Amino acid sequence: MRIATLASSSSGNAIWVEGEETAVLIDAGLSVRKLKEAAAQLERCLEQLAAVVVTHEHRDHTCGLGALSRKYNLPVYATESTWAAMEAQLGPIAEHNRCMLAPEEKIEIGELAFEAFSTSHDAGDPVGYVFHTREATAGVMTDTGYVSRGMARKLMECELLVFEANHDREMLIQGPYPWSLKKRILSDRGHLANDTAGDVLARLWGGRQQGVLLAHLSQENNTPQKALKTVEEHFQALGIKPGEEAWLEVAPASSPSAWLEKK
Ligand SMILES: [Zn+2]
Ligand SMILES: [Zn+2]
Repeated sequence: MRIATLASSSSGNAIWVEGEETAVLIDAGLSVRKLKEAAAQLERCLEQLAAVVVTHEHRDHTCGLGALSRKYNLPVYATESTWAAMEAQLGPIAEHNRCMLAPEEKIEIGELAFEAFSTSHDAGDPVGYVFHTREATAGVMTDTGYVSRGMARKLMECELLVFEANHDREMLIQGPYPWSLKKRILSDRGHLANDTAGDVLARLWGGRQQGVLLAHLSQENNTPQKALKTVEEHFQALGIKPGEEAWLEVAPASSPSAWLEKK
């Protein structure tokens, strides 16, 4: 299984997951043109996609979704409340491409099996995803204010992880955002701070994770260096050697990441 972000920030998110024969996009928060360009940089094309699965209705995850589904006749999977919340902004989606999913429901597309799990974010019914092939398990969790035991349990089984490290707490508090927005980001239904990401990732570590992409970094309240350093410090505190035992990288905001891969 391979997984890479096409772009990852509050200006646009999309993640490519593939097995040997099937590829699925998680979120489409970029225009079709930009999705196409990013896929090409990964030596892929959008015609290869079998479906799009959606985490939640925010525009940074859905702004290219309607056009993408129409142009490539792609099924779109989302929870009922996410459908209700994003419907108006998507434009018409063919009836046969409107697919409903519920958290914990097991779905198979080609050799990719996946299920959604609930996250905590200021959206209708936000979810993260766990994907399985016979060889590997990959987890994707961004846009969540905290990590519950249930979420951690889902992610513990994953060898490949795309995991949110949204902000440096100090930068956010000292930064230019209005207090109401800071409060929203810091809340249980906001976004994960670097230190929380580090704490959870280090504790999730069971010698099994092969690769982690830190994702959805704030461009105002974080830097790739800060995110990486904070998470590495949490790993080191538990005696895990980043680079040797844990492959850790930051997903670029507006270009594709490297592939996370498990053969
Ligand atoms: Zn987002
Ligand atoms: Zn969001």
